[in-house]
Amino acid sequence: MVDLYEPQDVTKKYPQPPFKPQQQPVPGTIFQMDPPADHGEESYKGSGRLAGRKALITGGDSGIGRAVAIAFGREGADVALNYLPEEQKDAEDTAKYAGDGGAKVELIPGDLADEAFNAELVEKTVAALGGLDLLVMIGGRMPTVSGIEDFDTEVFDNLLKVNVHSLFWLTKAAKRHLKPGASIITTSSIQGFVPSPTLVEYAVTKAGIANWTRAMAQQLAEDGIRVNGVAPGPFWTPLQPSSVPNEKIEEFGAEAAYGRPGQPVELSSTYVYLASQDSSYTSGETIAVTGGTPTH
Ligand code: NAD
Ligand code: MG
Repeated sequence: MVDLYEPQDVTKKYPQPPFKPQQQPVPGTIFQMDPPADHGEESYKGSGRLAGRKALITGGDSGIGRAVAIAFGREGADVALNYLPEEQKDAEDTAKYAGDGGAKVELIPGDLADEAFNAELVEKTVAALGGLDLLVMIGGRMPTVSGIEDFDTEVFDNLLKVNVHSLFWLTKAAKRHLKPGASIITTSSIQGFVPSPTLVEYAVTKAGIANWTRAMAQQLAEDGIRVNGVAPGPFWTPLQPSSVPNEKIEEFGAEAAYGRPGQPVELSSTYVYLASQDSSYTSGETIAVTGGTPTH
């Protein structure tokens, strides 16, 4: 186990490329990642920074969402996790770790592309946890293309619904439950700032998410609700082998200044910071966590 808190060479702290070739069907599972990812299962230590909070985390079964669920649970928050029904096994495993410090963990599978489900997800969360303080939107898709010939209207419509419409749908449903001090957190990407040619559709959604964050922060400021985002660089999660070809997996993370991908646990504290009152004067910001690569 890597000691999360001990100073060490950040470029060597976690696995570096080359990686073994590996592909997974969408949406992917943590159990087929080789090497396994570190979500803080053994290393993340809570210190009561989210004591008593109630959080809804989308994409909470795997990858970044799993790391955030574990961190939030250990910081004292009760959490509801959303994911797709076929990800039940990942979600149950995440619940085990997120709840190991005594937090309540509610599992609410369902498709974010379905408007009615988004409202239902919020209501089920409030019913299960007794309220809502933290709306953490991490779930997302990442289709890749090799050229404009691949552009597919149906794929793009679904991508927009999952990555962008759901922010509006969930926030609209959550608003009446959120009290002053509540925090909304979005998940953009380095792709929203420095896009790759094969990820143009995805990059558009991630730029949109960062802009949504800036605008919504101003809209909700008078309600005492903060809105911030996180823009990850390359992270070792099931999204990658289920979305990008093997030649990219083998060299995954080599493009980062650190020369390696991030592990999901390296993002937990950024979400905890934005959720907690430590960041009470911060709103509308998107924090880049990219292994040293500039985002502009
Ligand atoms: P992941 O595959 O573990 O998580 C993505 C999750 O999105 C899935 O677990 C799934 O539950 C959810 N999801 C997908 N389609 C859905 C739908 N229709 N309805 C409900 N849920 C759905 O991978 P991850 O890398 O942890 O991804 C989390 C977020 O981080 C995504 O928004 C992704 O765009 C973003 N991100 C990832 C990276 C990276 O390199 N891994 C980089 C930048 C941004
Ligand atoms: Mg998953």
